[in-house]
Amino acid sequence: MTGARVAVIGGGVIGLSIAWRAAAAGHRVELFDPADGSAAAQVAGGMLAPLSEARPGEEAALDFGAASLERWPGFIADLGTDPTSARGALTVALDGADLTDRHKAAAWVAERGHDIRPLTRREVRDLEPTLGPSIRGGVLAPTEGSVDNRQLLAALRAAAAAAGVVHTRTAVTETATLPHDRVVIAAGWRSAALLPERLAAMLYPAKGEILRVRTRPGSAVGPRHVIRAAVHGRPAYLVPRADGYVVGATQYEHGDDRAVTVAGVRDLLQDAELVFPAIGDYELFESAAGLRPMSRDDLPLIGTLDEDGYTGTIVACGHGRNGVLLAPLTADAVLAALDGHVLTEAAAALPERVK
Ligand SMILES: Cc1cc2nc3c(=O)[nH]c(=O)nc-3n(C[C@H](O)[C@H](O)[C@H](O)COP(=O)(O)OP(=O)(O)OC[C@H]3O[C@@H](n4cnc5c(N)ncnc54)[C@H](O)[C@@H]3O)c2cc1C
Repeated sequence: MTGARVAVIGGGVIGLSIAWRAAAAGHRVELFDPADGSAAAQVAGGMLAPLSEARPGEEAALDFGAASLERWPGFIADLGTDPTSARGALTVALDGADLTDRHKAAAWVAERGHDIRPLTRREVRDLEPTLGPSIRGGVLAPTEGSVDNRQLLAALRAAAAAAGVVHTRTAVTETATLPHDRVVIAAGWRSAALLPERLAAMLYPAKGEILRVRTRPGSAVGPRHVIRAAVHGRPAYLVPRADGYVVGATQYEHGDDRAVTVAGVRDLLQDAELVFPAIGDYELFESAAGLRPMSRDDLPLIGTLDEDGYTGTIVACGHGRNGVLLAPLTADAVLAALDGHVLTEAAAALPERVK
């Protein structure tokens, strides 16, 4: 049904993508969000890396992420602005055990038909000569990459406004009283306050801290791929931007806490320096933290509800560490839900899996 009056609650990367796509498809969309810029995607690395992140046995997450990665070129073409900041993701290992694990995981992903390649130490050095000497080898995923998160958010806001989305700057506290034909709950981890209890219990926030660094005159030109590693078991990454890198990211479960800690900054800098030693010459110009909207089974909740008081309400939340990556697939799945269908590639995220 096109031309429906649709309320989208939440203007983060997920709500904005849904609002834009729904308005472009002919719906009359009102986007509710009191904030502008405080959402998780404002601090995100912007990696599009479902193949590099995949672990044997986590097939549903791999298929889900890969289906969204495939949609990115079309999503960008329709957006009319290209926020791409890197092409290709290189995951490096700092010890032999990690390298064996990475190569095993890559073989599992490649068996499922994806382009991911094991690299020796020499091959990593040939590809990115400025990386640190302790790197033992790695894995290259040429179809992955990253987007500049802030360029993306600005482009989505502009595209949504151009498609006719009306932004109402209030928080929604009650969905049942909204006069719209359909309601989409896309308020990140705060969606829990608007959802039935069984779904609310699936969501929790996980704080993540990042740093932003940029080159200074004379500083070395660093890697052009997204660089990912595990240092002392902690995930570490460098995501290229036009003038430097986003360095990420910590992960803590501290509830609603967005303070940047001394220990977080110390760990991020230590780990990044091990991977890319010349980063010490860069200018550190920002530290920030955001709250990832986690789901307890690591798949988002996307689909139509049919319980009392929520019939026809659509949910789109719980995207965890991958909400930027998953925005195109989520928007398509919600468009299908508005039309009364289930998008096959997004069926694993249907909320009825939660009893
Ligand atoms: C440090 C860090 C690094 C990350 N790196 C990556 C990455 O490299 N790649 C990737 O894919 N993802 C990454 N992510 C994850 C990604 O940022 C999130 O999954 C994504 O931003 C979630 O988007 P969202 O729109 O669902 O939620 P949010 O970004 O949380 O947005 C929710 C919005 O809803 C609004 N809202 C809340 N309650 C209400 C209400 N009652 N009424 C109206 N509006 C409301 C809020 O104001 C907010 O704007 C990262 C996250 C962090 C924190």
